[in-house]
Amino acid sequence: MKRGEIYEGTVERVDYPNKGIVRVRDEEEQVIVKNVIPGQKVRFVINKSKAGRKEGRLLEVTEKSPSEADRTLCSAFPDCGGCIYQTMSYPDQLEMKAGQIKRLLDSASDHPYEFEGIAKSPDRFGYRNKMEYSFGDDRPGGPLTLGLHRKASTYDVLTCTDCVIVHPDFNVIVDAVLRCFAENPLPYFHKIRHEGYLRHLLLRRSASYGDILVHIVTTGDKEYEKQFDEEAFRDMILELEKSGRLSGHISGIMHIINDSLADIVRSDETRILFGKDYFMEKVLGLDFKVSSFSFFQTNTRGAEVLYDTARNYIGDTRDKNVFDLYSGTGTIAQILAPACRKVTGVEIVEETVESARYNAKLNGLTNCDFIAGDVLKVLDDLTDKPDFIVLDPPRDGIHPKALPKIIDYKVDNIVYISCKATSLARDLKVLQEGGYRLVRAKCIDLFPDSQHVETVVLLRGEKVDSYVSIDLDVKELDRKKVKR
Ligand code: SAH
Repeated sequence: MKRGEIYEGTVERVDYPNKGIVRVRDEEEQVIVKNVIPGQKVRFVINKSKAGRKEGRLLEVTEKSPSEADRTLCSAFPDCGGCIYQTMSYPDQLEMKAGQIKRLLDSASDHPYEFEGIAKSPDRFGYRNKMEYSFGDDRPGGPLTLGLHRKASTYDVLTCTDCVIVHPDFNVIVDAVLRCFAENPLPYFHKIRHEGYLRHLLLRRSASYGDILVHIVTTGDKEYEKQFDEEAFRDMILELEKSGRLSGHISGIMHIINDSLADIVRSDETRILFGKDYFMEKVLGLDFKVSSFSFFQTNTRGAEVLYDTARNYIGDTRDKNVFDLYSGTGTIAQILAPACRKVTGVEIVEETVESARYNAKLNGLTNCDFIAGDVLKVLDDLTDKPDFIVLDPPRDGIHPKALPKIIDYKVDNIVYISCKATSLARDLKVLQEGGYRLVRAKCIDLFPDSQHVETVVLLRGEKVDSYVSIDLDVKELDRKKVKR
């Protein structure tokens, strides 16, 4: 099999998160083809061949998989890369994701452990409580679009007003905002030329109360600003609720000015055009204030299943000091607080830490302490010692230099919640070298139709005498087997 040659084969399995393993009849070798479904017959071209590892680019699905359900798909499928498994039946998606994570953990774990399968998302559709849409076009010079990026494209934006994973209210709002700017044209912000006005539409919705936050994000261009009628925009959004087109209600409308060159949603200035820039969410009986930019799990009901699983893995924390590292709005910390001595949360985003403190007060919890800062640095300054550690890092996992510091606390048990299992598998190797072993693992599907899945694991220390030294060089850690 050589580069540039075209083959046809059957997808034997898909490894996490989207690596299809395709076998070609009469050929010994397997080829990795991304964005396919187990059981599909596919035609692909070999585009990489290195050290016995071959990769192919999908050209065509020649035969559907038996897993593919007959259902109405959203109009942006498959060009939008958001839901690559949208054609697959939900039970098959769950089985595939559980198998992917089990294979990853099996190869990373040096001990037998209990794999407890996967929990489904309580809401199969419309589960997302937050979405960031971009303004753009779907071809150079085309009409204004508002939606998600075309798969593997930095520039093309596809309008999507029938997305099945966001709350249906979002589709109504996207459609209305797009119409509004079709009638009152304003240019989108061009990422190369750095000119234009409209950047993003950020929508958030409380699953518990139906409160909706609408954020229109623009540049600060003074000329275009004169043409943007903030009041008319506000009234247009409020009219959606008045006319009964939304099931929730508009809680806040914000105009965010963002002049940064990076393609991220952030604020240089926030103008509240209506209401307030936060809403309340209820999770496992506790109240949480969620502000425009603070982290909150995007599938609220799914997050309850996740936190409940984590609580079950954590077990009895009576009289214990718990560290909740990467604590976000303090959800896990506050779920644990009533049943332990003290919880210390560490979170890098200041605004999120403020929300966590506010939430703890709101819930009448006095034994939570939230520290703003990088886990890597904060651990050096903390005088408290934990009896239990909960880790819930972002997608990249834990900084390699923070891991030895965590190991050095020598707590008996650690619960690690991961939104990217390959990062978990990498960190697990270091934790194992530090004397921990994997005991239990369970997946929770917070993201039906997409390639993502959450994993919760329980790790137990082996009570070794010497752990990894705190100031151990990371490269050294890679090279040397750590002395136990
Ligand atoms: N446990 C929380 C949040 C988990 S998401 C919840 O379930 O709601 C991961 C969080 O880690 C995010 O809030 C992110 O802002 C934070 N974070 C990312 N890098 C960090 C770092 N180096 N130190 C501390 N917090 C960090």
